[in-house]
Amino acid sequence: MTNIHRDRLIECLSRERERYRSTHQKSGTAREARSQSLLFQAPMNWMQQWPMEFPLTVANANCQTLIDADANRYVDLCLGYSAAFPGHAAPAGVQIHREKANDMMAESHLNSAGSVYLVPSASDSVVGELLKERYGQSYWGFALSATDANRFAIKLCRAVTGRQKILVFEGCYHGTVEETFATNQNGMTVTREGNLGIGVETQKTTTAIEFNDSEALAVALRSKEYACILLEPVMTNCGIIYPKSGFLDEILKLSRETGTISIFDEAHTLTADARGYVKKHALTPDVLVLGKCLGGGFPVGAYGVTKELRDRIHQVLRVEYSDVSGIGGTLTGSPAAMAAIVDTLANRLTNENYEAAIRNTHHLADGMREIITKLGIKWSVVTLGARFDIWFAATPAKNATEAFTIHDSDLYEYVFTAMLNRGYVLSPYWNILGSVSPFMTSDEITGFLKAFRQTLKDICD
Ligand code: PMP
Repeated sequence: MTNIHRDRLIECLSRERERYRSTHQKSGTAREARSQSLLFQAPMNWMQQWPMEFPLTVANANCQTLIDADANRYVDLCLGYSAAFPGHAAPAGVQIHREKANDMMAESHLNSAGSVYLVPSASDSVVGELLKERYGQSYWGFALSATDANRFAIKLCRAVTGRQKILVFEGCYHGTVEETFATNQNGMTVTREGNLGIGVETQKTTTAIEFNDSEALAVALRSKEYACILLEPVMTNCGIIYPKSGFLDEILKLSRETGTISIFDEAHTLTADARGYVKKHALTPDVLVLGKCLGGGFPVGAYGVTKELRDRIHQVLRVEYSDVSGIGGTLTGSPAAMAAIVDTLANRLTNENYEAAIRNTHHLADGMREIITKLGIKWSVVTLGARFDIWFAATPAKNATEAFTIHDSDLYEYVFTAMLNRGYVLSPYWNILGSVSPFMTSDEITGFLKAFRQTLKDICD
């Protein structure tokens, strides 16, 4: 397939592992200290799932720079899986612009001083209008994360349609929503391997079909048994997989014809464009889910619905039972969360920042493609706004099954570790994924490409 030398790859992998171990001793010790009091040796269980023996322990961060416990310095291309786009802490320029958000609040006689009231605050309608203007849906609900926004949206779809089942795509990830861990096995949808303490009967709750499969889509939707179809407009969770031409329109048309509610989850595709992928492409789903970078690092999720869906929701809502409706959260929509959204939209998710991040992504992707071509390696690099992915194949996958076939855990671990040892943290994930900051400098881009060239040269004939 390529002129990658397999034996050399294994040798280089073991050398990079050793280099990581010896230059990250304090990260190793910090893991030991955490294991004395933290259930997962980290505050969140995925943080254990690193390609190396133990994860990096971050001591400090600013913008696109991370400094670890051993005082190693990195350019961060993980950026909290894009939740920290653009930047870990507000850079100086943003601090100045921050006043713009404060002015907006002041103009509306708003006060965002409180953190949680559990009653509405004066900033709420400002946030609603901002979301409406930027992303296009007419009415907005809130959550603490994209996971919860998806969970709430699914419940509302069930409530208004009276249908139980949901339709998802193979390889999808929509947060820790139990029903979405679904895969097709011999014609039956079952839960995905690894799901712990399974509390639902997946074959009763969910059907998983292949992305870009028009026939399977039509058959499933025409059965009229689904409350909703939940999808990312471009799949990002097993590599970037674009919809084939017209596929998203087919989904919208067929879901309308069959009374199925369409939920487009933009938690990741939010970094595709300042308006998000959905608005950019004039798509009109019934529900749009946002999260991750929407709060600039503060935990927020949101779901926007059409006027028609709002009217249907109002018909089934029983306000006197809101507390047991299964949609809520004490901290949901708090004034602190609302202020974070206003600040992030006004000052951080700006057109300028998107333009810079997308420009940087193109520089990186073009540079990587040139290196790959010169070395005669048959890989491909795909971009989606401020995100890139490397496929270990000449052609990117068009669905999850192809993606799983292309996956190569040795190559992934090697490239990830070698790049980290050279000062570039990619997303600790499943394939080589980068979230690119608008603030990455041209020296950092040049340095990244130099490190990438060396990483690949070491394993080639
Ligand atoms: N939707 C998508 C498409 C995601 O990729 C993720 C997380 N990777 C989520 C939802 C859930 O986001 P969170 O973990 O912030 O709730």
